[in-house]
Amino acid sequence: MFKGILIEKDDAGYRAAVEDIDENRLPEGDVTVRVAYSSLNYKDGLAITGKGPVVRKFPMVPGIDIAGTVESSSHPDCRPGDRVLLNGWGVGETHWGGLAQKARLKGEWLVPLPAAFSERQAVAIGTAGYTAMLCVMALERQGVAPADGEIVVTGAAGGVGSVAVAVLSKLGYTVVAVSGRPDEAAYLKQLGASEVLDRSVFSSPGKPLGKERWAGAVDVVGSHTLANVCATTRYRGVVTACGLAGGMDFPSSVAPFILRGVTLVGIDSVMCPRPERLIAWQRLACDLDIAKLGLITHEVALAEAIPTAAQLMAGKVRGRVVVDVNR
Ligand code: NDP
Repeated sequence: MFKGILIEKDDAGYRAAVEDIDENRLPEGDVTVRVAYSSLNYKDGLAITGKGPVVRKFPMVPGIDIAGTVESSSHPDCRPGDRVLLNGWGVGETHWGGLAQKARLKGEWLVPLPAAFSERQAVAIGTAGYTAMLCVMALERQGVAPADGEIVVTGAAGGVGSVAVAVLSKLGYTVVAVSGRPDEAAYLKQLGASEVLDRSVFSSPGKPLGKERWAGAVDVVGSHTLANVCATTRYRGVVTACGLAGGMDFPSSVAPFILRGVTLVGIDSVMCPRPERLIAWQRLACDLDIAKLGLITHEVALAEAIPTAAQLMAGKVRGRVVVDVNR
């Protein structure tokens, strides 16, 4: 038996609770992992609270991030005792995830735990941080350099936003953070933001084009915020879109793209090919100040993950939440 959060949906409703789970209920997979830590991402918040249709099969163990040790394996690249990391691949959505003491997974989903990080640090970065790095890599690939001007990061006090601010500032970019929480301005400046703007500047319907300001953007909010970011991006600037915290719609016009040559780059971490994941993790080892990771992270026990998920959905959680699944 092992402890895990189980999400059920039936005639009695949608619910998540910590349960003792029989090991023979673990799903198919060629590697069994003793989980050390998982984390809470926005998607885990949706899954645990039932606020979004993230879970595709019931019962489900949520948790899209896993760091732990291989217990048994029939996969050629994984040996018992290996320290491994997993982000995404539908885990916590269609396949049991990491908010449990054990997980059974496909070996091809696992990457070696990056040598630079402990299990706890790796999930503190987690899917959110690795997605932030994918956004930064996309800006670089499109040629955005620190000398080109300001980079705007929306939803900045959340998980993706916090890591994006920290990485971009370490790389020498001038970062403007957008947040709905004025109380977090000092935190965002500590992470490296040069200025903090209130989210209300971006959240209402805007004009097709506004005054040009941004050389690049990392947007986790979507909806009017993404439309307004595109409308105020400079000639040939680059906007990376990875989230929908403010809505899934995109009420924009083609004006920024056809009149200013703005590039909109979509970012997906879930199915991102393994070689790019490995590069993103190598880059995080170099380009994220580990001292700032301490500032970004707080830890909860397994049972606390359930109420914390509701707080995350209410936009009340700062940075990243690590879950010690054995506590
Ligand atoms: P968090 O909950 O940690 O952060 C989201 C932040 O968005 C909040 O902290 C808040 O920042 C801001 N926000 C929340 N609600 C609203 C709103 N209604 N309007 C404007 N801003 C809002 O989530 P994550 O950082 O883990 O994820 C952020 C987004 O990125 C999510 O939509 C998630 O699904 C997506 N994502 C996508 C991935 C991909 O592969 N494409 C991977 C990882 C995440 P503040 O308080 O500073 O305003």
